[in-house]
Amino acid sequence: MTANDTMTRIEHVNCGWLHKPPLPPASCHCLMVLSGNSAVLIDTGIGMHDIVAPEQRIGSAAVDAAGFKFLPEVTAIRQLESRGMSASSVTDIVLTHCDSDHVGGLSDFPNARVHLASEEKVNLDAGNPRYTPRQFSHGPNWRTYSENNCEVLGLPSRRINTTFDLDIRLVPLFGHTNGHCGVAIHHNGAWIIHVGDAYYLRDELTNEDHPISGLATLRADNNKLRKESLEKLRQLTRRTDVDLTYFGYHDISELPDTITMYEDLA
Ligand SMILES: [Zn+2]
Repeated sequence: MTANDTMTRIEHVNCGWLHKPPLPPASCHCLMVLSGNSAVLIDTGIGMHDIVAPEQRIGSAAVDAAGFKFLPEVTAIRQLESRGMSASSVTDIVLTHCDSDHVGGLSDFPNARVHLASEEKVNLDAGNPRYTPRQFSHGPNWRTYSENNCEVLGLPSRRINTTFDLDIRLVPLFGHTNGHCGVAIHHNGAWIIHVGDAYYLRDELTNEDHPISGLATLRADNNKLRKESLEKLRQLTRRTDVDLTYFGYHDISELPDTITMYEDLA
């Protein structure tokens, strides 16, 4: 454990809800890494600008297809403000990928450095229609990473540079999008891995034929790679010799019990 580990705390937060029946409600499970008055965010959920102008930012077809809910109180910026912080507290944002439900909060933190895999930035710049350019029109301060230069529990990874002296890595789990990554953080002697959308529901790790895999296949930039990434996670999470916490972005069962569920807010 480094001295910095003891000064840093990691909070699991939900920064947006999606609900399109008959699919179950889905979360936007982000992390706030907090130290003093500074914060690093892992993914950003639905942001204030999305709430003000959803059709312009996301498009009404996409809003309806995914069942976006627009609730100011769950945005990352409002949740940080409730902790006495502000937009300028966020020095760095690490993105799993650039889908609209993950990047909506970016423009609430226009001064943050935004870290992601080079492959994902190339995918965005190439105009992949899954992305919504208006969510990036403020001009994020991008930092891209292309080289696998270290490993996390046997998986190739890319160490990223934030203002925090904390070991944070992008872990390529390509397929959902061309540059989709998990984000691993070494904290208090153990690894935490946010797997992003490498699975939608945790049950996919144990059920090879989960009904949600139809949607996952439909949404994948590269379904072969998506399945390979999911298989890597299956193997990793079966290991009993490692101290690992993992979770995805959308499975509400992986949120802390303290978070109010969407149905209660309606
Ligand atoms: Zn997603």
